[in-house]
Amino acid sequence: MSIKDEFELETDSEKIERLRKRAQKLREELSSLEDTIEALQQKLVEETIKVPDCDLLFGTWDCPDSPTGKCVYDLNQDHENPDHDTMGEDECLFCGEPEERK
Ligand SMILES: [Zn+2]
Repeated sequence: MSIKDEFELETDSEKIERLRKRAQKLREELSSLEDTIEALQQKLVEETIKVPDCDLLFGTWDCPDSPTGKCVYDLNQDHENPDHDTMGEDECLFCGEPEERK
């Protein structure tokens, strides 16, 4: 019996159940991939800025200066210059642009 025949024999509620399980599996896989990406980014950025255990936030802006290719913000920023006034906005560690851009 072909997969197509099996699909046609399945009731709609069986299809829903099967597709739900598949979607759940994909979500778990996605979340695991995202965790892996995040861990690698964290490692790469810490190696680049030579500050361990940073509370980093990975942005979505393209950043040619960043080792990850995207902007990175340090949530406990200004290790080197605690007096630097950032107006309460996080700035990218590599290009200095704020997280919020108009
Ligand atoms: Zn940047």
